[in-house]
Order: sequence, then structure tokens, then C-alpha cells
Amino acid sequence: MLKFITFSVKVQLNVHDLNNEAVAGNVTDIRIMEFLDEMGGKVEATAVSGRMLKHWHYEGMRKLGSAQGLPFCDACKIGEPVRPAKLENNILSHKNAVAEGQVAVIQKCAICDIHGYLAAIAGEGRGGRRTSEEGEEEQEGVSERRSSRVMFSWLMPVLGGEFSSRQVIHSRVKSGISFDDKNLTSQMPFHKSYGSGIYAFVSALDIDRIGLVELNLGSPNPYAVDDNSGRKQRIKVALEAYRLMLSGQLGASLSHAVPHVNPLEILVAYSETGPLPFPVSPIYPDYISKTVGLMPENTTLLYLGSETPTGVVKKNTINEVFDEILSKVA
Ligand SMILES: [Zn+2]
Repeated sequence: MLKFITFSVKVQLNVHDLNNEAVAGNVTDIRIMEFLDEMGGKVEATAVSGRMLKHWHYEGMRKLGSAQGLPFCDACKIGEPVRPAKLENNILSHKNAVAEGQVAVIQKCAICDIHGYLAAIAGEGRGGRRTSEEGEEEQEGVSERRSSRVMFSWLMPVLGGEFSSRQVIHSRVKSGISFDDKNLTSQMPFHKSYGSGIYAFVSALDIDRIGLVELNLGSPNPYAVDDNSGRKQRIKVALEAYRLMLSGQLGASLSHAVPHVNPLEILVAYSETGPLPFPVSPIYPDYISKTVGLMPENTTLLYLGSETPTGVVKKNTINEVFDEILSKVA
């Protein structure tokens, strides 16, 4: 059974709009990040935050999980980022969902389980009201945190490569017929930036802690969800969500800017015995040999790409990579 897996991905993305992280008025600019090359020289290029990559993994889990009937809380069902939540009388209640306790939250929602959550609720919550020494009633807040089982780096350009971004003007084509509402203008031009380059990211999935309630460690079964109650299905959906990301299902403008994606290299490291270190990033040229040299015994490394490195099992297709890792969850 898989306990931990890491992904190192090198991917070419042409004409992408992977973030809307720098928006000002009707100008949507792509995020530019500063970083250092191997010689310590400063580089500036388009980059996408790890929050954004995690969001696209979340969206992948939502799509695949709802098709398979995985349980989601009412926030995760609709993609509301404040999670968990319960829909009561058509209003989302974060407080009432958290008040049911971590075991219930995890059992009811595969995303809250795997992507974690941070609940900081001021005022009366699960702790209820209590009376202070002076006899005044105080409201006690609720604070609960579940760390994410999935972890992402930023998406960064591979060092030494070319990358570019360009701003273009879009405008909607008017039909010629007027609206009754004079405030509706259909021809407002707007600016958007698109980037192109060879990028890399690393990600890790702490499979052993899916379904686990840390507070219950030491008890006979610290898992709120076990292999007989859908835990394996959650793991498979979390793994399959990476396949969607590798196909370019990431980005803020999928309706009109699906990136021209070409997965160049994928290095997977997995363990059936325990947690693994994070891999060396594919933004560096010697990342494969360094990752092979970093991973402990009992790690299996799978590689898809044009190199023929030692210490890895070479795969020919993304399907072959996923067939092997999914077979370790069966
Ligand atoms: Zn949820």
C-alpha cells in the first residue's frame, strides 16, 4: 500500500494564463516572480503560485470525486474556499460544520480530509459560552486546523530556458442591437497577459495521513476513514487529479485559453514504508541524479522523459506511470 508519493514535473506551456493574480481594473497581468539562477544571478519571469496549483488539484478532485460519489461537505460541493460548511436554510454555516468535530468533518468530506482546513471562528462556537471570574459571560472561539496532505511548490520556469509573456487587448464583438439598460456596455476592451515557457513544479501527497486524525494517534484506530469506508477511493481520486493537471487543466481562463501543454518529464518517487523527502526541483538540470541520490532505501522511482538516467524505472507513457501507482492502492 502506498504511504507517500512525490511528483517532479517538467512541462511546456505555450500561451497560458495560469493566474489572475495581478489584477488592476480592466488589466489582468500575469504574475512575475524574481528568483536566482544557479550562479546566483537574478532572473525575472512569469510564475504561478503553489496556492494556484493546489487550487487546480482541488478542482480536479471535485470533478472526479463528484462523478464517483465521493462525500463532500456543502462548501466543497460548490467550490467555496471557506471549508468545511453545512448548508442550512440556504445559508452556509462554517461554524456548525466545524462544531461537529474533526472526525465527522473528515468522514463527511474527502477534500477537507486531503486538502486540510483552517477554522478560526471568533465568539461562541463549539466551546460555547463560559463565565469569567468577574461573572461576565465570555464567548470562546473555535480554532481548528487540519494540515493539507497535498503540497505544491510554485510553478517556475526551468533555469536557462527562454520564457516570454505578452499583453494583448480583447474586446467583445457588438451585435449592433441596443440594451434597455444603458449601463450595459458590451464593447469595453480589456487587457490580458499570456505567458509561454518550460516550467517545473514539485508536489507531494502524504497518503498515509489521509483519513488520519492526529488527535487520536495512539488509539487502536486513529483513522476516521479506513480502507473499508472509502479511504482507498479518496487516495485514487487524489492521485488521478494530478493526471488532469498534467494535461493542462489548470489556469484561470480555461474557456478561452487552454494552455498548449506538452509534458516533457515526470519523475515519481513513492514509498510503501514511510514518508519521503521532497524531490529536487526540475528547474535544475541535474535534478534526476540528485533526487535519486536523496531518496532513502525502499523508494521506487519512475521516470518518463527523453533522458536515460540510472536508478529509475523508465516508463513510456503517463498511463504506465499511473497504472503502476494506482496498482499500489488496490
Ligand atoms: Zn469540505
